[in-house]
This record gives sequence, structure tokens and C-alpha cells, in this order.
Amino acid sequence: MKLLTAEYLLPIASDPISGGAVAIEGQAIVAVGGSGELKAKYPSAGVEDFGNAAILPGFVNCHSHLELTAMRGALDDVEHDFKSWLLKINDLRSAMTDADIEDAAIAGAMEGAAAGVTCFGDIGRYGLAGTKALKQVGLRGIVYQETEFSPDNRTAEGDFAKLGAKYEELRKEETDLVKVGLSPHSPYTVGSQLFELIAQYSILNRVPLSIHASESLDEMNLLEKGEGFFTQFYEKLGLEWNSPHCTPIEYLERLGVLSTRPLLAHCVTVTDSDIKKIAANRASIAHCPKSNAKFGHGYAPFEKFLDAGIAVGLGSDSVASNNV
Ligand SMILES: [Zn+2]
Repeated sequence: MKLLTAEYLLPIASDPISGGAVAIEGQAIVAVGGSGELKAKYPSAGVEDFGNAAILPGFVNCHSHLELTAMRGALDDVEHDFKSWLLKINDLRSAMTDADIEDAAIAGAMEGAAAGVTCFGDIGRYGLAGTKALKQVGLRGIVYQETEFSPDNRTAEGDFAKLGAKYEELRKEETDLVKVGLSPHSPYTVGSQLFELIAQYSILNRVPLSIHASESLDEMNLLEKGEGFFTQFYEKLGLEWNSPHCTPIEYLERLGVLSTRPLLAHCVTVTDSDIKKIAANRASIAHCPKSNAKFGHGYAPFEKFLDAGIAVGLGSDSVASNNV
């Protein structure tokens, strides 16, 4: 038995306690309360006093890309132009070795821990880097294996097989604290058939999903009107992609993705009807205000999310789309 004490204790689920203590038995918190009260209750417990400090639960960063931690500031020259940003990050990422990516993920996990984050919802193209980082730094979280650029339905079966193989490898890394999931990156980088295959797999195998959705006007224009730079990009690469002529959230609902209750990152350009769909499907939202601001994508209707009863958490996104 051990008691941690400090001038302030913030249980969050109840009012702050002045002169508080946390009683820990093995790996579990068994009591929180006034330090005098807990010292009397557990007289033989060792006491570690943090003095003029506050003890509070660890923070949750529900949308990160730890493997990109080496890119802080590297994309600032293209932050005004999402298209150039996407192309540049792809080039920079391709130049990194697996060892570079693993080192970056560990650095990101350590930065998070130093800032009080104890739980990550992390997305990785190289998922193993995220699981290794969380385990090495002793954190909790879900690492979502991300899809590669795969918008063309003609390659959906093959793309799904490759993703499934990566996911099966990643699952072997699961521990009590570190779980794994899948991240179909976004409606503009994943084809409709691949989305459907992932959604079916998720429901059958209870695999958590996280998706970047309704992040920018470019994405909205592509989905609703079939216009914008993404279409030129697909044409240039000879890819087949047809606009569904609906919002990204409607699209995810049609494809059966929303019913998997995914964690949706951003949701900046959502309509009131989209918010109702997100709430009705009990999906949740990773709100990333710093990243949205850096790109000038606008601000997500945070209050409406809460009013609709949607579970919302905060995400840092990667340091490539963030100045902190
Ligand atoms: Zn992201």
C-alpha cells in the first residue's frame, strides 16, 4: 500500500480536494480522499508527498500520429495549402526507415508522458512503431493500423488483404494496456469497397476503427460535388473514383462504416444532419482544434457535439499539423 499526497487532488469525477491523497494497492487505486483521512485509514502505508502540486488522472490524447514526431516544423512552409502538405508529408515519410519511425514514435510517447498524457489513440502507417513506443514508455492506448493510399475500387480486395496481414501482425503485440485497431485513413484516400470490407471485418471481429472525416472543404467538395484538387490528382494517377454526391458522414453511413461506432477525427465541416447521424450511431469524435487552426480548416462545432450527447475527446494530431 502506498499513499501519494499533494496540496491539491483533482479526482475530476468529484470536487477538488485540498490536501488530498491517493491510496494505491499494487496496480490499482483503492481510495481517494483527504490526506489525513487516508493516512488514518492506512497507517502502515508508505507516503510520497508531492508538496505544492496537483494530482489528477492522466490525460487522454485520442488522435495522434506518434510516428511523425520527427517532423515538427518540417511542413510549416506548406501549411497554407493542404494539397501541398499532403504531398510533402508523403515524400518525407517515404524517406524515413522503419528505425527512424520507431525512434520518432518513442520520442512522441515520451513527450506525451512528460505532458501528463497516459493514454493515446494513435494512428500509424507502421503500426508496430506505435505499439512499441507505448509499451516502452509504459502508456495505455489503442494503435490503429492505417491504410495506404487506396482510393481505387479495382484494387480493394488486394488492399484489404495487405491491411489484414498487417493487422494480424499488430494484434500479436497487444497487452492489457495496449490494444490495436484499424484506420481507414479518410473518405478521399480509401475507396468505397475497401471501406465496406473494413466495416464488415470490424463488426465481425470487434475491431475498433478511427477515421479522418469531414476535415476540410476540399474533402467536402470532392464528396458532395466531385470537384477540387483530389479529382485532378486521381486523374493524373489514372485512378477510378466516383463522387457519392453526399457529405463524408452520409457516405460513411451508407457504406456501413458509421455503424461500427468509429472514432471520427476532426468533423469540422459536418452539417446538423451529420451530427444527428454520428450521435444516432454512437460514434465518437476526436476534436483537434490546434490542427484545424494550423491548416485554416475552420473550427468544429464542439458545443453541438456535446448537445447531441456525442462522446468527444481532444487530439493533438501529429506534430506536422501542430505547433505544440
Ligand atoms: Zn490525423
